[in-house]
Amino acid sequence: MFITIYIYGSIGFKWDRAHIHMTINFSREEIKLKKKTQTIISRAKECSKKSRVTIVAKRRKGSICIIDQLKNISLLESFTTVFLKLNPPIPYFYKRSSDSDLSKINTLETLIYSQGGLEKTINKLIAFLRNDRKYLSGHEEVNYGSMVLYSCESAMFATNKSHYRTIRNPMPYCSLCWRRVEYSKYYCQEHHPKQSRNQHYSSRAALFSAIKNTKSEFQIELQNHMDKKQSTQLALLMYKWTQSFAEQPIMIKKQFPNIDVLYIQNWKKAAVKIQQFCLSTYPRTYNKTQYVVPNSFENWESWSLSIIAELDPTEAIFWEIKELSEWLGFDSPYPPWMTLLAVLQRHEATEVINSLPQPRGVKKGSTRINPRLTKNICDEISNLKHNSQRINQAEIARKLDIPRSTVNRIIKKYDLL
Ligand SMILES: [Zn+2]
Repeated sequence: MFITIYIYGSIGFKWDRAHIHMTINFSREEIKLKKKTQTIISRAKECSKKSRVTIVAKRRKGSICIIDQLKNISLLESFTTVFLKLNPPIPYFYKRSSDSDLSKINTLETLIYSQGGLEKTINKLIAFLRNDRKYLSGHEEVNYGSMVLYSCESAMFATNKSHYRTIRNPMPYCSLCWRRVEYSKYYCQEHHPKQSRNQHYSSRAALFSAIKNTKSEFQIELQNHMDKKQSTQLALLMYKWTQSFAEQPIMIKKQFPNIDVLYIQNWKKAAVKIQQFCLSTYPRTYNKTQYVVPNSFENWESWSLSIIAELDPTEAIFWEIKELSEWLGFDSPYPPWMTLLAVLQRHEATEVINSLPQPRGVKKGSTRINPRLTKNICDEISNLKHNSQRINQAEIARKLDIPRSTVNRIIKKYDLL
């Protein structure tokens, strides 16, 4: 069959792709690309371990630039041609290569530089596969394109991951729970310190107690806040503290490294993976949402909305009205699967905090004893001994103006008699 494709009437170029399609075995090329990338990345990782240098995405002295390592990975021309027609190289790239011949962009390295860096290439590839994949010759070539994206993602993941840290939590949630903020900068309506004072303080107490009674890394930070040594705003600290009670959503990449590619190819499969990740990582949230089976939904938006509805129906309405297209839809600036995972993580963290017992009162044996007091009591005892008088706890207490029980406690604790 003779296929002619027109892209954007105004550009108006056409070519015969049927011939290319017949001679290229896309799936074989796809596997080749994957293997090559994996080899190069693991080699770079070994090298970075051995010589103790970091892997970075931008050229820097004394570190391995991952993009430069990809120069031997050649790409199929049939793919790059279509991609580059829609995503022409940045002007800077032309300047550098002093050549506007697109056929020179035939490796992963040149492709990435032509798009202005690794992160930009990833974003452009995602947009391309999402919106313009119809220009590719068929299903197999789309899969090949996804593999190009996967290779870029793996390269990015091999770097120090700081890029991933910035997208961990793309959305402004309540400092004390998983709901969206509405009229306030830091709190949902349920946790607003003025609108719902009781709820605010009880959730706050639960969070503080959870930090104190677990092996939280934030115990010192909390103590500093209590001692008023902390200048950072409490709401921001609590936001961070809350989410430390559940695993970071990016950890899904360890279990399913190609989740983003999968999401583009087949959202239902990606949704199943997200549920599997929940089962192992966010069990409390999984219990509530396990019956929302992706197969019975038409699209990603309606599925994720049902998930949120299982957690809290009113919150789901809020999402539906205000946020759906912006955050969970295809126009979202962040990967929608990531946004949903971020919601699930904060929900899990809130559940964990609320499920922990809150021991009240002073912890047994935790009262700090004033060292000066101990010394004073010691002095009194040695005084009495020196004068060979009988040691009378009540008298020591009277002399030092403290309760007799305190004297007794300190004497017992340090075995002073
Ligand atoms: Zn809240």
